Amino acid sequence: MNSGSASTSHAPDRYDCPVCAALAGRTISVGDLAFGRDAVPKDYGDVAIVMNPLWWPRNPGSVIVVPTRHYENVFDLPTRLGGDLQLAVHDAATALRATEGCAGVTVRQNNEPGGDQEVWHFHIHVIPRHGGDGLRSPRPAPAPAHEFGTRASRLKEALRGA
Ligand SMILES: [Zn+2]
Repeated sequence: MNSGSASTSHAPDRYDCPVCAALAGRTISVGDLAFGRDAVPKDYGDVAIVMNPLWWPRNPGSVIVVPTRHYENVFDLPTRLGGDLQLAVHDAATALRATEGCAGVTVRQNNEPGGDQEVWHFHIHVIPRHGGDGLRSPRPAPAPAHEFGTRASRLKEALRGA
């Protein structure tokens, strides 16, 4: 277990960040899609809502909420942006519920390759959900009591002074 808080970048050398490109108004190709400033339905200044050019098969229309400056992951992200990010997540979820006719909305955020991060600009997924869409697979099971307590104690110790 890595107990450090410092981030190690996983972006390749000379990474051409697609999020920064879209925010700057530069269009790039994602498959047959021209992805650029038109994919930014709302810019709040420090954060923005951006259409996700990659869709899960049964969840079209998903978006990402991003800081407008480049930070790679949760370890790099200034905590002062938390409130602004949550506001944008709230607005995105509310808008998706109105426009996609979805049964619910999932908010998801991945960090580092081991956490399924694939785009190296911090982003929070806001995904419209539909019954039986299979996005949540496998389903979680109840935690074993002895492991739950051990892990909770370890985490409490790591968070002391945070
Ligand atoms: Zn970026």
